Amino acid sequence: MLITTVVIIIIIIIIIIIIIIIKKNILKQPNTEELCRRCGKESETIQHITAACEQIAPTEYVRRHGGLARIIHQKLAEAAELIDDKSP
Ligand SMILES: [Zn+2]
Repeated sequence: MLITTVVIIIIIIIIIIIIIIIKKNILKQPNTEELCRRCGKESETIQHITAACEQIAPTEYVRRHGGLARIIHQKLAEAAELIDDKSP
């Protein structure tokens, strides 16, 4: 009886370990308990990566902002018939 219980507990632990490995490596789900791989200061969440990482802010966020501003400027200029060329 005791041996059966121990075997069941070991099997449950092995299943939990396999699920963690699958979630992290195969499904590529980020572990929110891990720190950001860029700055190492905050949890690596979607919110942190897309808007709050101090390492990404001076480059990627500025580039993303500039890209959106270019699109908006182009569309406004087209709407106001200030330009004929619709190439980006
Ligand atoms: Zn970060």
